[in-house]
Amino acid sequence: MATLNKRRFDVVIVGAGGSGMRASLQLARAGLNVAVLSKVFPTRSHTVAAQGGIGASLGNMSEDNWHYHFFDTVKGSDWLGDQDAIEFMCREAPKVVYELEHFGMPFDRNPDGTIYQRPFGGHTANYGEKPVQRACAAADRTGHAMLHTLYQQNVKSRTNFFVEWMALDLIRDADGDVVGVTALEMETGELYVLEAKTVLLATGGAGRIFAASTNAFINTGDGLGMAARAGIPLEDMEFWQFHPTGVHNAGVLLTEGCRGEGAILRNSNGERFMERYAPTLKDLAPRDFVSRCMDQEIKEGRGCGPNKDYIQLDMTHLGGETIMKRLPSVFEIGHNFANVDITKEPIPVVPTIHYQMGGIPTNVHGQVVVPQGGNPSAVVNGLYAVGECSCVSVHGANRLGTNSLLDLLVFGRAAGNHIVEFASRSKSHKPLPADAADATRARLARYESSTQGEYAQVVANDIRKTMQQHAGVFRTQASMDEGVAKIKAVAERARHIHLADKSKVFNTARIEALEVDNLIESALATMISAAARRESRGAHTVDDYGDTPAHPNGRNDAEWLKHTLWYSEGNRLEYKPVNMTPMSVESIPPKVRTF
Ligand SMILES: Cc1cc2nc3c(=O)[nH]c(=O)nc-3n(C[C@H](O)[C@H](O)[C@H](O)COP(=O)(O)OP(=O)(O)OC[C@H]3O[C@@H](n4cnc5c(N)ncnc54)[C@H](O)[C@@H]3O)c2cc1C
Repeated sequence: MATLNKRRFDVVIVGAGGSGMRASLQLARAGLNVAVLSKVFPTRSHTVAAQGGIGASLGNMSEDNWHYHFFDTVKGSDWLGDQDAIEFMCREAPKVVYELEHFGMPFDRNPDGTIYQRPFGGHTANYGEKPVQRACAAADRTGHAMLHTLYQQNVKSRTNFFVEWMALDLIRDADGDVVGVTALEMETGELYVLEAKTVLLATGGAGRIFAASTNAFINTGDGLGMAARAGIPLEDMEFWQFHPTGVHNAGVLLTEGCRGEGAILRNSNGERFMERYAPTLKDLAPRDFVSRCMDQEIKEGRGCGPNKDYIQLDMTHLGGETIMKRLPSVFEIGHNFANVDITKEPIPVVPTIHYQMGGIPTNVHGQVVVPQGGNPSAVVNGLYAVGECSCVSVHGANRLGTNSLLDLLVFGRAAGNHIVEFASRSKSHKPLPADAADATRARLARYESSTQGEYAQVVANDIRKTMQQHAGVFRTQASMDEGVAKIKAVAERARHIHLADKSKVFNTARIEALEVDNLIESALATMISAAARRESRGAHTVDDYGDTPAHPNGRNDAEWLKHTLWYSEGNRLEYKPVNMTPMSVESIPPKVRTF
């Protein structure tokens, strides 16, 4: 790797999913020279797989307003979400959805021409009274439609795409400011330094640290690894969402839109058990809650099938016509992955890893923030993060379905606007430090000089096995503590990976090895943050911290109503307060969550 090539841009965006492309659109339209890097062709980013919808209180089909959406999101987050950021997101929601409509997004329509909206888990009218129709949908291909719409608008606005480029490390100067990234062009195997006034990370989630996941194989937490290696902490990584309806034994997602359209969960007695746990919202309670109820049914022997290890999702009563109109992809998934005709028989499902609530800490402008000199949220100059890799935090301990696509649009746009404003004030690039590419070169040299050791895939599989076993739906303190020791041992092995194929052109083995460096940072952050949080909250449910009169549902606000910050160096943990003060309305004080 002797050659070092340099390119210079106003802004480098790492990631061409919904969040990266919403931000790049704002920048390209403002005339900035923006480069968007992606490991895959932009429209193959994981956003393309989103099925169910985008949350916005348009009120097209039932009475709704942003105050209800705000309340639902705070409650859904089990009070760990920052209320200022949640207010910002819910108020902006209708605006960004209409904007998307005007970009050409092919939403489904009501007879009066307005956007079709379906009910979704945890979304209610009148502060929890009844389900509301808030999820703006294009059949069950909402993410697909959205990503293609954003890509087309970006092409029109002349965004520069660097397809099949992998960003490797952030470049920080002596002041700690971010001044660019290093990146590998996969086709040639050449290393580049990409200089920028601003870098925006939009690399998506790290769902592939788990063995059973609804996520794309490229979701390896690269932005998290880059931030962690550059000394930036990761926030609330103990909170991982299990989606209630992954296809049993396949992991492929069946959207919550199924239940939004009326599908029902049944145990081995054919009972609609959610009526017992959540009398008001039933099958449409939030995901953490439904996943736990399903697990409870299985634990108590009411699972289905020969091994009593799954739950049935029943859509047969919806009728073939509704299914083919509203859920055509779900029909195909049932056929291809479970050999089931969902119009005629129920389909086996289990809670499956789906979404990371935590990530790189940011403020509502998308600026990355770290504790410094007594300020818990000091801005890192030149660095932004948006989308699933970031933590604003609007999802807290549990995200509501449809709030992620919304988060991409709202904060992608907000970050874009903020960067444009910064660009108008700062005319020149800061000088690159002399050692700009040294850390990356050292990483690459480690693989180039390896002569023996384990293959990347062996180590990656052990990361996944460990996380699945020790950081699953139900957690115990003992199992998490054991998980910490195990994942630290895997991390040690990750430092001695052997790359047998040293060729340069499209060497996917090198890419996979480099991805392990990011998987392991994400896994360590998750396991260590989880073992340290001694309560149950949202998706982090620990058997040892169960329901008591002092701590209903196991939640302990007196000690744990705070955000975790994990630092890679020394696996150090710090905590910072949750912002309980919204921008304009009254705070919603913590209560016991019932549905
Ligand atoms: C199956 C499924 C269904 C979902 N359905 C819904 C839904 O209906 N509603 C909802 O609100 N949410 C849904 N979600 C969640 C939501 O889709 C995701 O959280 C969101 O799309 C993530 O978008 P993103 O822009 O953050 O990242 P992604 O779309 O994951 O894009 C990440 C981008 O980063 C690039 N990248 C990563 N690492 C590097 C690197 N090192 N160098 C260069 N490029 C890199 C990738 O190539 C890609 O372009 C769903 C998720 C899944 C998995």
